[in-house]
Amino acid sequence: MRDKKKGINLSERLQEIAGFVPKGARLLDVGSDHAYLPLYLLGKGCIDYAIAGEVAEGPYSSALENVAQAGLSDCVDVRLADGLAAFTESDDIDVIAVCGMGGRLIAEILEAGKAKLSLVKQLILQPNNCEDELRLWLMANGFAITAEKIVTDKQKYYEILVAEKGQMTLSDMDLRFGPFLRRELSAVFKARWQRELSKLEQALMKIPEKNEQDRLAIKVKISQIKEVLHESTADY
Ligand code: SAM
Repeated sequence: MRDKKKGINLSERLQEIAGFVPKGARLLDVGSDHAYLPLYLLGKGCIDYAIAGEVAEGPYSSALENVAQAGLSDCVDVRLADGLAAFTESDDIDVIAVCGMGGRLIAEILEAGKAKLSLVKQLILQPNNCEDELRLWLMANGFAITAEKIVTDKQKYYEILVAEKGQMTLSDMDLRFGPFLRRELSAVFKARWQRELSKLEQALMKIPEKNEQDRLAIKVKISQIKEVLHESTADY
């Protein structure tokens, strides 16, 4: 492992994501923006090689510039490409990170490049929303979640999902709250869902009694959260 001296300051969210990248991985970072994640991991001596894939010209140029400035152009290939088109078999990529996008978009990127996923050992995913849809895609496509973490950064909550090839069966509650997260019941998890619960309770108070369907939909969400937080659901 080469010892790279140039470091980079990452957001807390990206640092948490970086913590899941195995030492020595050959990483594809899809939607790499400034190439922060690959540069940080190289700087720490955690990896030797990465591809920073970007579909948009602006972030692609920033990534190219940052990699060149860090003097790491021999270790990071910055490629203008849509999703998994950024790599081929000969790149020997074993870990793919797709982070900081909507869960639906991440699932679409994985779906579009599905044929190539057989080449890869691990996915590290950080959806900004629609986590349930992403978990559903993983379950339907022969991936099993092996680890999950919920983190907070600048008063926002982010879920990180790590998946490998395998089978899993997730209930509706697992899809929504995360099979590991809901059992671990961390303080961050509780705070995230307490906040969501308060929002839903406020919303419910504003919906007139006559709108039964709307009220019922919110009540179901409320009682699921209460169940996962082990609070009484008697009122709902
Ligand atoms: N991954 C970084 C992070 O977590 O901080 C950057 C997140 S940024 C919000 C999302 C980036 O993904 C943007 O730079 C966008 O251009 C890129 N992106 C969106 N769809 C993409 C796709 N299909 N292929 C590659 N990059 C994509």
